Amino acid sequence: MRFRLIIYKQTNQIPNEIKQIRLYVMRALNEFLANGDPMVEEKLKFAFYWAASCGGCEIAVLDINEKILDVVAKADIVFWPVAIDIKYKDVEAMPDKYIDVCFFNGAIRNEEQEHMAKLLRKKSKVLVAFGSCACDGCVVGLGNLWDKETIFERAYFETPSTKNPESVTPKTSVRVKEGELELPEFYDTVKTLGQTVDVDYFLSGCPPPIPCILQAVEAIFNNKLPPKGSSLLPNKSICDECPREKKDRKLSEIKRIYEIDDDLKTCFLDQGVICMGPATRAGCGAQCPNVNVPCTGCDGPGPLVTDQGAAITSALASIATDLKVIEQAVDPIGTFYKYSLANSILRRRVIKK
Ligand code: SF4
Ligand code: SF4
Ligand code: SF4
Repeated sequence: MRFRLIIYKQTNQIPNEIKQIRLYVMRALNEFLANGDPMVEEKLKFAFYWAASCGGCEIAVLDINEKILDVVAKADIVFWPVAIDIKYKDVEAMPDKYIDVCFFNGAIRNEEQEHMAKLLRKKSKVLVAFGSCACDGCVVGLGNLWDKETIFERAYFETPSTKNPESVTPKTSVRVKEGELELPEFYDTVKTLGQTVDVDYFLSGCPPPIPCILQAVEAIFNNKLPPKGSSLLPNKSICDECPREKKDRKLSEIKRIYEIDDDLKTCFLDQGVICMGPATRAGCGAQCPNVNVPCTGCDGPGPLVTDQGAAITSALASIATDLKVIEQAVDPIGTFYKYSLANSILRRRVIKK
């Protein structure tokens, strides 16, 4: 019998039948290893995906450093667009619930991201909202202060570096001589992953704290995940992790960090500087106050907090000598809802058309 060796330089040159066979062979090999040798444990299948994100959450995965070797010893990564050349079609060809755990970062800003959220939900046993964008919308969610038209106007016409004499804006389809090109539709409103599909666990942070990622992976390997719907960060607030001394608070004036002579040990709120610690879930070890910067709230709403912005406003109101003091806060939405506007009770600004 003679064999012919064909080397494909790019994945898109590989015929679909061969990709299908490759998938079956990988599955069969895994099953053989698991069932054929009792000493060999079946590896879990992990997937990573990014939707509307900055890429920082992908970097956070690599920030676990040499521990990534422990992860790949126990899990195969079957989908990770930033690192592995596997196409959407390959995911579509996977049986439902084929992926054991999918870590999904990024918010849902367009049609493609919504499609992938729904597809990965279908293909995954466990779906983890990974990072503040997926959990709460994060800075991407601040786009909900405007609508699609205003955003396009700003991005494609008004910015000083833009020259657009033909008034080109993104279209969902355009005809070129080679055929029809399609782009996903850009939505008016940014949604979180949980507003799009059913999410099993939430691992917030911008990006999630490395120790919490490792603890989550450990819990997955040891089958010790908490009840569905839980946050994988600790059930306490940043203030519980912060070494700064809390005094009897009286907020008579709001100041910016550069306006105070920080004594490096007293709580920022006692010094008149807004710190989101009381309204924010712990996990990072109060990383920012530990380097003399107030917490801006990236780990998302604290335990039992529904609306992070409302919680900090209420905390400030409880220590303010006069409620008018709170009006001194510069950019209240950007300060109180920087990471959570899309997931808040407000959700978005109402724009009359
Ligand atoms: S949560 Fe932060 S680090 Fe992660 S993708 Fe969003 S903006 Fe980037
Ligand atoms: S408000 Fe900020 S500075 Fe004060 S204890 Fe909480 S985290 Fe620390
Ligand atoms: S201190 Fe606050 S802003 Fe800083 S990393 Fe922790 S949660 Fe995020």
